[in-house]
Amino acid sequence: LTKRLSLPKVRDELYELSHKFNQMFERLEESFEKEQQFTADVSHELRTPVTVIISQCEYLIEDPVLEEEEKEEIMIILRQARRMSKLINEMLMIARGEMSESYDMEEVDLILLTEVIVEELREQAEKKKIQISVFSDRDVKMMGNHTLLLRMMMNLVQNAISYGKEHGHIDILWKEQGDMIIGEVKDDGIGIAQEDIPKIWDRFYRVDKSRSRENGGTGLGLSMVHFIVAVHGGQIHVESKKGEGTSFIFQFPKM
Ligand code: ADP
Repeated sequence: LTKRLSLPKVRDELYELSHKFNQMFERLEESFEKEQQFTADVSHELRTPVTVIISQCEYLIEDPVLEEEEKEEIMIILRQARRMSKLINEMLMIARGEMSESYDMEEVDLILLTEVIVEELREQAEKKKIQISVFSDRDVKMMGNHTLLLRMMMNLVQNAISYGKEHGHIDILWKEQGDMIIGEVKDDGIGIAQEDIPKIWDRFYRVDKSRSRENGGTGLGLSMVHFIVAVHGGQIHVESKKGEGTSFIFQFPKM
């Protein structure tokens, strides 16, 4: 190469190349931003009509003159509309999340936050006779965004219930280790096959589409979890064995 091109020429070529790369990246970034804005706008626009469908169905289904069969039909619409609403909210949250650069950080009491989640999901867990236990150091607090951390735990525990087995157990663990907070959500449910593990973080990926749909799943829950962990400078990984159970283990700097 040096025989054919003089050094200044090589430098010029490199300069030209890096300039072109920069331009390409700028264009790419611009189109990503546009795509995120589009997703946010569409989700926002869809929210109102879906909310109307849900509230109308909830109102209709209470009508005492309805036959059992008619009720069942409304219930089908209601279930699908609720799933759509969840999907819209999650898409909106991801698109907004990726667009905004900073989040309000405050001191978050992770034990209190976990208790709120457990309380909120108690009924769902009871339906499958699943027992949820929380094990923790007395005080586990970190600097974080309360709404996002709540959403993260909600998604993980909800999955543990959805993919848990009847009469199963869910353990939630929190501990402090030096400057780090370590958390875990562990179930003894259906588990995830080894080859599926790397894919579960992808948007819209579901191992078993029909089961996930039945549970009202969207395939966005874990990609949100991944994003929320990253926003807090943390890390997450999963340990799972098909048929035996799954454990999501994460760590955050206390900050
Ligand atoms: P979904 O809305 O389908 O639950 P997620 O992004 O939350 O979407 O999860 C992606 C997929 O990972 C799920 O469809 C399911 O197949 C698998 N998965 C997630 N959590 C668990 C778990 N605790 N046990 C077994 N499989 C799980």
